[in-house]
Amino acid sequence: MTEELFREDASLHQCSACVLAIDDRGVRLDRTVFYPQGGGQAGDAGVLRLGDGRELQVADTRKGELPGEILHLLADPADAVALQPGDVVTAVIDRVRRGAHMRFHTATHLLCALVPHPVDGCSITAAYARLDFHMNEPLDKQQLSDGIARLVAAARPVHHRWVGETELDANPQWVRSMRVLPPRGQGRIRVLEIDGVDLQPCGGTHVANTADIGKVIVTKVEKKSAMTRRVILGFAEAAEG
Ligand SMILES: [Zn+2]
Repeated sequence: MTEELFREDASLHQCSACVLAIDDRGVRLDRTVFYPQGGGQAGDAGVLRLGDGRELQVADTRKGELPGEILHLLADPADAVALQPGDVVTAVIDRVRRGAHMRFHTATHLLCALVPHPVDGCSITAAYARLDFHMNEPLDKQQLSDGIARLVAAARPVHHRWVGETELDANPQWVRSMRVLPPRGQGRIRVLEIDGVDLQPCGGTHVANTADIGKVIVTKVEKKSAMTRRVILGFAEAAEG
């Protein structure tokens, strides 16, 4: 098991960690700030800094086959020879990439508040985010962009807490996603709340206040199928440039 520091504090960008194992699947650490791809959010990239100052590039982070397993994928698998179990390294994420994930991810929660329909799919990358809603009514691109801007300007605090499965079962309306159901059997489920705006189970990384989302706009609304409307988010600065 790896201690998941990113679950309690998404603003951490580095930590000291001990190498547990290295194999052709990746590097496992006893604790990490690297978010593994999941819940629609892309995995983190970054470096593992060795005691002598050398840096091994991490291209991506994935969940392993076992529960709680987090694999740091080396950009150059040949770098694995530089590591031994028991080595102490500093795990440092790419802050620009993660910052984009956090801004987009939090913006998808705002979209959930603006579009009261079940979510049928989600993908969050550093370049864009997309959210598929199970609905057949048309959506207005400008109206959604304006709605996001309003909630960003409202500067609402974003925080998480842990609830028991009983509390979740008592509040079925919390679950917005049709495909990604909250993990069961661990006794507690992480709930993400944007004060007065949105509340739903979510294990991803988010900014601490909606103001930190900045200028995120809807770049496209597509009819993917009779019952799916896809909304694509982008950074306004990228759209203008
Ligand atoms: Zn989330």
